[in-house]
Amino acid sequence: MAKRIFITGFWHETNTFAQTQTGMDDFRAYQYAEGDALFAAFADTNTEVGGVIDAAMELDLNLIPGLFAGAVPSGLITGEAYEFLLDRTLELLAAAGEIDGVLVHLHGAAVAVGTPEADADFLSAIRRQLPLTPIVATFDLHANLTQGLIAGADALVGYDTYPHNDMGERGREAAHLLHRMLWSDKRPEKVFRKLPFAPPPQVQGTSAEPAAGIMANMHDMETWGGIWSASIAWGFPYADVAHLGVGVLVQGDDIHHVNRIADDLALSIWHQRGNFDAGLIGAEEAVRSAIAAAEGPVILVDVADNAGGGAPGDGTTILSELLDQSAVGAVVVLCDPGAVRTAKSLGTGAMFSGNVGGRADDLHGPPIPLVGEIVFQEPVTYQRRGDYMTGQQINLGDVAVIQSGGVTVLLTEYKAMPFDADHLAAAGIAAETLKIIVVKSAIAWQAHFRAFAKAEIYVDTPGVCASNLKRFAYTRLTRDIYPIADDGVWPAGNS
Ligand SMILES: [Zn+2]
Repeated sequence: MAKRIFITGFWHETNTFAQTQTGMDDFRAYQYAEGDALFAAFADTNTEVGGVIDAAMELDLNLIPGLFAGAVPSGLITGEAYEFLLDRTLELLAAAGEIDGVLVHLHGAAVAVGTPEADADFLSAIRRQLPLTPIVATFDLHANLTQGLIAGADALVGYDTYPHNDMGERGREAAHLLHRMLWSDKRPEKVFRKLPFAPPPQVQGTSAEPAAGIMANMHDMETWGGIWSASIAWGFPYADVAHLGVGVLVQGDDIHHVNRIADDLALSIWHQRGNFDAGLIGAEEAVRSAIAAAEGPVILVDVADNAGGGAPGDGTTILSELLDQSAVGAVVVLCDPGAVRTAKSLGTGAMFSGNVGGRADDLHGPPIPLVGEIVFQEPVTYQRRGDYMTGQQINLGDVAVIQSGGVTVLLTEYKAMPFDADHLAAAGIAAETLKIIVVKSAIAWQAHFRAFAKAEIYVDTPGVCASNLKRFAYTRLTRDIYPIADDGVWPAGNS
């Protein structure tokens, strides 16, 4: 008899500095599927659920769908939304009948109003309902891991890559770990180490040093006898929570062996903390050097307005410089439903004259006056082609493209994460032919644009995802964390 595996997911990276809260509308707008719709939404995608679906066929597991809810990274989850998702999940679990195992797909940096460790709370509620059933959870590389989260599952698997192009593979790994537990009746020892270290996402890329070497070392340890799995969660620093920071998780047969490996990994990260430095250049100088570059595209990275990290995606600091310096062949994507409505009422070919961007809050630059021709105006949906979340359907709502001199501004109704050039292609813009491309992303953009970009400049812009963590007023940290403080405290007297 095929084992019956309940599969469910709750995925949100919460930027507690963002000024708008995340409600059920935001989950429904991005990812919400229950029952068989969950399989329809994720089959053949490079996501955890997609990977589990593949593995279930090989391993002869009978998947019983719960729900999967994910929202674009944004502000605190409302108490109502969190309660609804948890209650609905438990309801579906209760209705699922006899269950042999559970797979739970989490982010690990979800914060709800009144529930700072939302992922741990979610997982432990499932555990309470099924105290003896094996549970395997997955988490994002940006998780702020806690002991509570680790305790809620029998084994856990985190993404190993950033940009995250191994989501499908990690889903498969989670299914295999669960299968191993079901057939061997063994559970791994789990050892967790938390570091007082929170590098900004910009320097967490796993294909560049120092993270690349650390991950390679970890993968080597995973091949050692008796080790089931190891993960490093590099943390999401835009969360004012006590459990902020890098976490190391090692799982295997022998507790002493697992302890030693976890300590070695944690210590090697700690000793390299000074190498995770974000080199940033001011907007004026960044735009000047992009214009002066011999060939393009030059990528200007607006990391502080990272729409994939909870920022509104409507920051105007770089756009304002591009217009002031009369850049040519430059493109900026902004989420601005109001300006899109105006453009829609005017129609393609008409002249647009009005303010764009800077509306969601006052942290990402002011609205900027823009005058130009409306060269495109249509609703846009597309399927993600880059190797990150491949196959996912993205809805930008109504889209308008305004051509103002040499600067092209693509305005979207809905906030979406512009990680790849599909945003541009869907509106008739060929990214390869541009001189300057502004991306609102920390690292995820690299998966697509590095293939043809000639240069990249990380720009020191203001916003809720700024790489300079000293810009933020943390109030809930319980110890010094590097580089927010000039040094952290771990392990006592041994750093
Ligand atoms: Zn992430």
